[in-house]
Amino acid sequence: MLPDPSARPAFCTPVYIGAEIYRFSTYGPTHPLAVPRVSTCTDLILAMGWLDPRQFVTAPMAGVAELARFHDPGYLAALQRAERDQAVSAADRDRYRIGIDGNPVYPEIFSRPATSAGGVMLAARLTVAGGVVHCPGGGTHHGRPDRASGFCYLNDPVLGLLAWLDAGLTRVVYLDIDAHHGDGVQDAFADDGRVLTISIHEAGRWPGTGVAEDRAGGAARNLPVPRGFNDSEMRWLMQEAVLPLIAAWQPQAIMVQAGADALEEDPLARLALSNNAYWEVARAVRGLAPRLVVLGGGGYNPYATGRCWAGLWAALNGIAVPPRATPEAERVLRALRYNRAAGRTPPEHWLTTLRDAPREGMVRDDIKRLAALARMERLSA
Ligand SMILES: [Zn+2]
Repeated sequence: MLPDPSARPAFCTPVYIGAEIYRFSTYGPTHPLAVPRVSTCTDLILAMGWLDPRQFVTAPMAGVAELARFHDPGYLAALQRAERDQAVSAADRDRYRIGIDGNPVYPEIFSRPATSAGGVMLAARLTVAGGVVHCPGGGTHHGRPDRASGFCYLNDPVLGLLAWLDAGLTRVVYLDIDAHHGDGVQDAFADDGRVLTISIHEAGRWPGTGVAEDRAGGAARNLPVPRGFNDSEMRWLMQEAVLPLIAAWQPQAIMVQAGADALEEDPLARLALSNNAYWEVARAVRGLAPRLVVLGGGGYNPYATGRCWAGLWAALNGIAVPPRATPEAERVLRALRYNRAAGRTPPEHWLTTLRDAPREGMVRDDIKRLAALARMERLSA
């Protein structure tokens, strides 16, 4: 029997999908997403000399017809109206949660999420025959078919996963390491045995879903971790639960949502990872499927998020992160503005390094219990 070409390991050069829309677009001066993240990541990997121009692809803005694969046309029209008018009617606000609940009306309220969606759908299409793509503009995992939720207007991970399924893939893994539960993606595939969704998130944090027993009909695993979650604990969960689950699933493709709000410096969560933990996750899943797409997500400290995502790109390319940032990368970091107390006097290592000091620690019993529960045979899909 001939080997299945789709089962070939991905040896090809990774692709980076970015877009300039992220550079100047903000959710408003007082919103946590006032900070530049994707442009910081792009600028850092360029400044470190890690990006061959042939690896860079600009994210196209998705059209309404493509977005309607998951989203309600009435909701998409409301987003376009909000972008045009820079205002929202009471009816649209109440029905679609636009201009309320942390989902502000801002100048690119349709264009920016549509670009994220276009980037992630392109990532899926580029990898149909195999490959690795980093698309840090994607990762809006809370978006709902017919409403905004948790700073997310569209759900680009869902649209990317659907693009893979529409191309004929039947066994896909979605791994979400954002500090918040990947509720929108889990719910979108709750009745779909083709997608295993795994979410590691802070217990008790918004949106409050994703308890350890929640399997969403079978093909979901949730690992709600306690405050102070450290690098050693992430390694434990990966080795004892996540990697065995992925191996058992034998995925044709893996999508990782790498929201950077589980880093210790993040202002919105209380987890304590260093960026080494993120890079280790990327390296660990790299060879487990012939297709890998790595997205961004949360991340509200621009220094920590930019350094983390730039290092993810290095990990996907097998590049070792040197102890010191190049002078060009240091200039990128020193030019950042961050409207929080920590931003007034950023610690020196935010400006001169990309790699954090590792944050190893004790693996608590809670973590060991979570790993054991996630692997319990009788709960398998
Ligand atoms: Zn988050």
